[in-house]
Parts: sequence; structure tokens; C-alpha cells
Amino acid sequence: MTVHVHTSLRHPLVFRTLEVRRVQTLTPRMRRVVFGGDELRGFISAAPDDHVKLFFPNARGAIVRPAIGPNGPVHAPGVDYSQMRDYTPRHHDADANELTVDFVLHGDGPAASWAAQATPGQTIGAGGPRGSMLVADDFDTYAMFGDETALPAIGRWLEALPAGKRAEVFVDIPERADRQTLASRADLHLTWLERDGGEASASRRLELALAAWTPPPGETFHWIAAESARTRSMRQAVIERGVPNDCVKATGYWKAGA
Ligand SMILES: Cc1cc2nc3c(=O)[nH]c(=O)nc-3n(C[C@H](O)[C@H](O)[C@H](O)COP(=O)(O)OP(=O)(O)OC[C@H]3O[C@@H](n4cnc5c(N)ncnc54)[C@H](O)[C@@H]3O)c2cc1C
Repeated sequence: MTVHVHTSLRHPLVFRTLEVRRVQTLTPRMRRVVFGGDELRGFISAAPDDHVKLFFPNARGAIVRPAIGPNGPVHAPGVDYSQMRDYTPRHHDADANELTVDFVLHGDGPAASWAAQATPGQTIGAGGPRGSMLVADDFDTYAMFGDETALPAIGRWLEALPAGKRAEVFVDIPERADRQTLASRADLHLTWLERDGGEASASRRLELALAAWTPPPGETFHWIAAESARTRSMRQAVIERGVPNDCVKATGYWKAGA
């Protein structure tokens, strides 16, 4: 069996203020926000599943970030800090100095609420990415299992995959109208799993699809991102098939009820 070498990159931690340039409704549950601004210059994102920390305006409309101490963020008492959430750099265009982020409109939450009302000219804060993991490019197949929060990373990864690779992709989405057009030069096998009103955390569509799925011949990298408990159980299911640890990456993208 081939030993696959993944590459971890560290980037200097940079905090930026970003300005909303454009917004676009992609599907009923996904809003695209394109950011720009002088502080975006020098932005680096090397891997499709990178993330940035976005800082949203507090109750007074200000972006207030904690100081970073030797042991991480330092929160002073009595300060109304900005809420911070993780988002995928869906696309970065250095020439146009633009960063695209796709937000799931899941209802409540500082990030989803901000995205729902975002308009050009508004500003938010962004930190990172602090690092990137470049998955080895010598797998025959890249299998991806994710809910709608994983769509930005999946879309970006599919755009980056070259011809000659195979992509087997399963995406759990709210309803048919939330399907997106995903472009790839790879041999793409895409399955949309629609919950039709069901809760994302209670859906078992990805789990059932994974159980029924047979990896194609050759070597497969497995990537999983969805609600945390679902992600854990799918990772376990993959490992129980005898897949080595270096052929799977599973990340909880959000926590039900948290
Ligand atoms: C590495 C990484 C990359 C990510 N990339 C993206 C991305 O590109 N686009 C994106 O939309 N999200 C992405 N996420 C997920 C996003 O960070 C979470 O969904 C986040 O919790 C949203 O924050 P919020 O302020 O809207 O809601 P929160 O305040 O965090 O949560 C409020 C309530 O909503 C629930 N909730 C949170 N997210 C969801 C959801 N998606 N569906 C249903 N209920 C939910 C929570 O359980 C809680 O009950 C990513 C997460 C990680 C870890």
C-alpha cells in the first residue's frame, strides 16, 4: 500500500478588517459574500478545507477582538467581544483582491444572522488561516461526505482536482433547491441527499449513503465534515472498514444545540 504524504503548512496569524463588496443568494439556504479591502492583501489560503475565523459586529456594531496572549485569546472582563465563527475561504482572487465566503442560512446564530443582512460597505473582522493541510495528491479517488456547511470546501476541492482523478461526493442538503452546480475536471460522481424539512443534526442520509457505498478500486482519501456527532460516527464507520488513519480526515463543522 502506498504511503501518502500530506503536507502541513503554517501561516503567520494576521487579523484583518474586510469590507463587503457584493452579496449573492446562491440557493435558498446559502448566501455568498464577496469581501475586499486593503487589509485583504497578502491573504493566503493553500488548502480547500482551510478556515478563517470571522469576527462579527457586537451589539454596538463594533468589531472587538480579544488580544492574543502566549496561551491563546485573552478576554478582559466587561468587554463586549465580537462573536467569532469558522468559515471556509471558498475562493480567493489575489488579482481582484477578493475573498468569497458562502454562509449557510440556518436560522439563529451571529454568523448566519449577519450573513442574512449583509450589504455592500459593511465590515467584519477575519483572522487566519493559521495553517493548511495539503492532502496528498496521489490518491486515485477523493471521497467527500458533508452537509451544506461543507459545500464551500467541497466546491473548492472539486475545482482544484485535476483530470484523471475520481471524486465521489455525497452532500446532505435541506432541499432540492439547495443543490449547486459544482465544476470539476475530475471524474465526478455526485449524489445530493435532500432532507426535505428534516433537521440537519437528525439526518442519517450521509450515514446511510456511506454504509451503502463501495469505494472504487485503487486508493481512496475520505473527507467528512458535518455536524460534530455525525462526523464522529461516520469517521468511526470508515475506520471500522479498515481504512488507515492517513486516508481519512473528519472535522465537526458545527455542534447541535451549542
Ligand atoms: C473548519 C470549518 C469550516 C466551516 N466553513 C463553513 C462555511 O464555509 N460556511 C458555513 O455556512 N459554515 C461553515 N462552518 C460551520 C459554521 O462555523 C457553523 O455552522 C457555525 O456554528 C455558524 O455560526 P452561527 O453564529 O450562525 O450559529 P451558532 O451561534 O454557532 O449556533 C446557533 C444555533 O444554530 C445551530 N447551528 C449552527 N450551525 C448550524 C447549521 N449549519 N445548521 C443547523 N443548525 C446550526 C447550533 O447548534 C446552535 O443551536 C465551518 C466550520 C468549520 C469548523
